[in-house]
Amino acid sequence: MTDRFDPTALMRSNIRALVPYSTARDEFSGEGITAWLDANENPFDNGVNRYPDPHQKELKKVISELFGTPTDTIFIGGAGSDEAIDLLIRIFCVPGKDNIVTISPTYGVYEVSAAINDVEVRAVPLGERFTLPVESLVAAADSNTKLTWVCSPNNPTGNAFSVEELAELAEKVAGMLVIDEAYVDFSEKGSMLPFMENYPNVVILRTLSKARGMASLRLGMAFSHPSVAQAMAMVKYPYNVNGPTQRDVIRRLRETPDISANVETLLNERKRLERELPSKPGVKTVYPSDANFLLVEFDDPNGVYDMLLKGGALVRNRNSVPGCKGCLRITVGTPQQNELLLSLMNNWK
Ligand SMILES: *Cc1c(COP(=O)(O)O)cnc(C)c1O
Repeated sequence: MTDRFDPTALMRSNIRALVPYSTARDEFSGEGITAWLDANENPFDNGVNRYPDPHQKELKKVISELFGTPTDTIFIGGAGSDEAIDLLIRIFCVPGKDNIVTISPTYGVYEVSAAINDVEVRAVPLGERFTLPVESLVAAADSNTKLTWVCSPNNPTGNAFSVEELAELAEKVAGMLVIDEAYVDFSEKGSMLPFMENYPNVVILRTLSKARGMASLRLGMAFSHPSVAQAMAMVKYPYNVNGPTQRDVIRRLRETPDISANVETLLNERKRLERELPSKPGVKTVYPSDANFLLVEFDDPNGVYDMLLKGGALVRNRNSVPGCKGCLRITVGTPQQNELLLSLMNNWK
């Protein structure tokens, strides 16, 4: 990837021409205001009466320090990384004309988001044991392919792809490569984030919903070339991350920047499930995982699903997903929850 690659050239022409919505406070920078009379808010302080910062400046500073990335490469989504997924499709793909390439099986939101935007999805099956089909992904593209989408570690298969493979794909794809790293904190294969600068066509998605334990706050992040982050900021709803969420996330990230102990506990629990599940009745294959869940193949997945449900354990049935026949996806829980799962499996016929 040369330094001269400019993602802007791939964007829809109406997005390139867009004049973003500007608030009165965008035009103001300075101190000394005691009368905020610009935004028709209620002036009486109840903690939430003022509009939040539409640019999330303080939050971006905290994220920038934590992830070691400049603030102008960060987009923050207030509907989780699902917001970033939709925005990327809307920014790059002309409805009814452009297409995206994805692996299969993978996270379902890419396809739904593309369908909502009337964008064709070209799904390329993963290789044997869920390996990354680099050449097939490249071959599936044509001149209307704007985005290639890879999830690593992949949901629902659980395996991660190596940084070398992802870098090779970044070199070979025609348009942008989006890498969804929602589960990267659980993987030893590493993140592409430190190599971002070498790949201006790469967008990396992260979320606070998984290892960082803040799914309810709905905060997702995209890291990219500044031109992409800027386009996402222009296209998003102005106040997409609400004030209480911004404040709460800032506080939590400052209080607990290091999540390694928590991740370690979950990794140990995953290893325990990986060790013990294969000998349970009805289990055919426990696929290797780089995430906080396991894809497990059963003789009778629907029967096991119902049995677990009756015992109070809800798992995700992936039996009908192409490439996942016979499989349930099981999230690693607390030691007690995993114990329940294992003991229910003992009693399976
Ligand atoms: C859970 C998950 C996300 C996170 O979505 P949020 O909207 O940020 O909660 C993103 N990508 C994948 C593959 C996931 O499994």
